[in-house]
Amino acid sequence: MSLNPVRPWRNIERRRSRQIMVGKVPVGGDAPISVQTMTNTDTSDVKATLDQVLRAAEVGADIVRVSTPDEASTRALKEICRESPVPIVADIHFHYRRAIEAAEAGAACLRINPGNIGDERRVREVIRAAKDHGCSIRIGVNAGSLEKHLLEKYGEPCPDAMVESALEHIRILEDNDFREYKVSVKASDVFLAAAAYQGLAEATDAPIHLGITEAGGMIAGTVKSAIGLGNLLWMGIGDTIRVSLSADPVEEVKVGFEILKSLGLRTRGVQIISCPSCARQGFDVIRTVEILEKRLDHIKTPMSLSIIGCVVNGPGEALMTDIGFTGGGAGAGMVYMAGKQSHKLSNEQMVDEIVRLVEERAARLEAEAQAAEAAQ
Ligand code: SF4
Repeated sequence: MSLNPVRPWRNIERRRSRQIMVGKVPVGGDAPISVQTMTNTDTSDVKATLDQVLRAAEVGADIVRVSTPDEASTRALKEICRESPVPIVADIHFHYRRAIEAAEAGAACLRINPGNIGDERRVREVIRAAKDHGCSIRIGVNAGSLEKHLLEKYGEPCPDAMVESALEHIRILEDNDFREYKVSVKASDVFLAAAAYQGLAEATDAPIHLGITEAGGMIAGTVKSAIGLGNLLWMGIGDTIRVSLSADPVEEVKVGFEILKSLGLRTRGVQIISCPSCARQGFDVIRTVEILEKRLDHIKTPMSLSIIGCVVNGPGEALMTDIGFTGGGAGAGMVYMAGKQSHKLSNEQMVDEIVRLVEERAARLEAEAQAAEAAQ
């Protein structure tokens, strides 16, 4: 990622990691930080699972993980992998044979948990299957399921124990000439996860999959993930992320993108800057933003939009956004384009007009991007 010489306080220097491929998606190196989620359907129900994968992909998921607890799910995985528009990661716990079946079924990546995958001989079998079928592997350490010998050594889950677990499995993969792996050291405690990830980042150059596991429901989990992942991303740590919420996977993807967007690490769709509103508002800001979020949900082109209740902050925010609207008096406000006053607009016409302007700009930017690509 290029650094910003004009506004250096916005710079995040990413840790240098190796790049691997999860199917067609590069992870690590200078690849964009990818956003993942996980289905919560019965995997053997191909239709329900694929439907969830498609919905997640539609809102921007780059990679989707699917749980494979039994043979029925690894059988179903074949069709899911074939039909999915994004690479599928098979989530493996306890049964190393599920990993082998998932590799045969077309999974792009196998997530194994060092705490329950079994001895080195079993891991070697998983590596062989991954090599034979072109899969990558995620070593997914979890504070809640650490190996017994590490719990005995350290007394409780702690950053050193988690990093040691990851390094033991990295060693097995490396000893078997397997380098297409990424690593995670998740915990539900943000302090534990952050310290473990910092230790991991120093100990390896492998790409890192970030997550605060079992973060909670929509609001609590979003806040916890934003603090945990946000701090690590700000330090430059993390090549792919998954926000874990007790909520629809679509929400996980949206929250993941919002975290990356807030840090300027990725852009997608319309980023709405809006004020909380107060007695000075010239129109109903909260209701308007709710409607705009829904009506602009389909826009994938990155763009910023400020919707501000009055002139206290409206013109200033409009200076820094592509399109802006600032509430004024007598039921009308001002539209700004690229920071400059454009035209007055009544509050009644405002939503339709803003949607039209955003769609128009998105279409123009997409056409320009396509023309540039064709010229190359
Ligand atoms: S921008 Fe205006 S309407 Fe919005 S919160 Fe500030 S003072 Fe209130």
